[in-house]
Amino acid sequence: MSQPSAKLNAFPVFMRVEGEAVVIVGGGDEALAKARLLGQSSARLVIVSDHVEPELADWIAANNAGHINALYDSAYLEGAVLVFAATGDAGQDRVISDDARRLGIPVNAVDRPELCDFFTPALVNRAPLAVAIGTEGAGPVLAQMVRSKIDRMLSPSLGSLAVLAASFREGAEKLLPKGNPRRRFWNEFFSGAPARALENGQPEEAREVASALLRRQEPTEGHIALVGAGPGAEDLLTLRAHRHLMEADVIVYDALVPEAVVAMGRRDAERLPVGKRKGCHSKSQAEINALLVSLGRQGKRVVRLKSGDPLVFGRAGEEMQALRDAAISYEVVPGVTAAFAAAADFELPLTLRGVTSSMVFTTGHDLKGKSLPDWAKLAISGATVAVYMGRSVAADVASRLIDAGLSPDTAVAVVENASLTSRRKFHGTLADLPSLEDRTDLTGPVMTIIGDAVAGANFEKSEPLAAQRHIGAAARTGETVA
Ligand code: SAH
Repeated sequence: MSQPSAKLNAFPVFMRVEGEAVVIVGGGDEALAKARLLGQSSARLVIVSDHVEPELADWIAANNAGHINALYDSAYLEGAVLVFAATGDAGQDRVISDDARRLGIPVNAVDRPELCDFFTPALVNRAPLAVAIGTEGAGPVLAQMVRSKIDRMLSPSLGSLAVLAASFREGAEKLLPKGNPRRRFWNEFFSGAPARALENGQPEEAREVASALLRRQEPTEGHIALVGAGPGAEDLLTLRAHRHLMEADVIVYDALVPEAVVAMGRRDAERLPVGKRKGCHSKSQAEINALLVSLGRQGKRVVRLKSGDPLVFGRAGEEMQALRDAAISYEVVPGVTAAFAAAADFELPLTLRGVTSSMVFTTGHDLKGKSLPDWAKLAISGATVAVYMGRSVAADVASRLIDAGLSPDTAVAVVENASLTSRRKFHGTLADLPSLEDRTDLTGPVMTIIGDAVAGANFEKSEPLAAQRHIGAAARTGETVA
């Protein structure tokens, strides 16, 4: 909250400019910047300059703006609703500012606050919705920072949603009593099914669900978003994931999802850890399925947060089946899977022209049987293999692949806590891989990548895999599993 004494010296308003003349005097970069800003409105732009730089000339042509190719004259300002002095010349800008003021037209002079009647905001444009950010001319960098934050928070389809809302306003006023019922309708309209339909690019559907909502044919519906939280670093979360987190009533998350990511959710969202670590499943999969169904039935907006990508070793299939069976609406938001984060940490090309053109994502847990699983055959024919949850089966993976004919010299890269600053990297060969099982010092999630493409990785800050052989596998700590 601002202190009571802090008063705005420039008060934000939204000015009607549709079809009105806005004059920009100047032909260089400053004029171009203002033209771009004002070009987001339906004002009639007129550029006054006898010397227009090529970039601005292109912009004028592309945007059908007016251009008076002449020396500045105050007559060109007449009838305008706003004037911009953007000549880059202090004396000239002052003349323009004085003229505009004499004509009673509000004026802005670029970078000369003392000549300004108004400041231009940094703008987040979701027309007809707009967020204008002002700092009274003091901090354009700050304004841009705030702008980009807000821009990320707001769905690109918010403008269409606002247009749709306008077309429902009259109906809502007629059909719904003022107060709670109307407020509930709009809440659901802006964050529920109509908003989701527009985000999915289905305007017809959006209109239909909004009409149904208005006619009260549908009670508030729950919705579950199965969201990929990425490998751990907060800034590897997608913008869409972030938006869902901001709107969630409830966040249901796994053990591997870092607190910092969960904390990005709406502050008053309920947070339910259902985390699993090997050996101590705090909730069974059936219990989690039932929980999601029950939250959906209560009409909650739920984010089911899973590490990495929700569709990779995340048991999403079972959860989606349960939701389908219960006819609860859901969607999937992809995330950066651990294999990609690990490859990035090693600057390791997962596909490499002339070396490998296929990838295998596996757990290695299917190697116990007599017959070799298909992925092992792919590995032998050159695929890059990413092994999830592979620490406790490292020896099996290595010996089965070597027995089957993969060279013991095949390169291997291992990373614990990929994408996090706490990451540790190891490299070696397939022959070294069994030592991974004995490493009691690795307590975070571990990703193993095997294949010829691994040889092209960057092993800087990476330790040799087999350097330290720990005896006493009995002391092993539980491996993190999905
Ligand atoms: N859905 C997740 C995978 C869940 S399975 C995803 O797409 O990434 C859990 C396994 O993922 C862990 O045992 C480990 O092998 C791997 N893993 C997850 N996060 C990791 C990280 N930050 N670093 C290394 N491996 C990770």
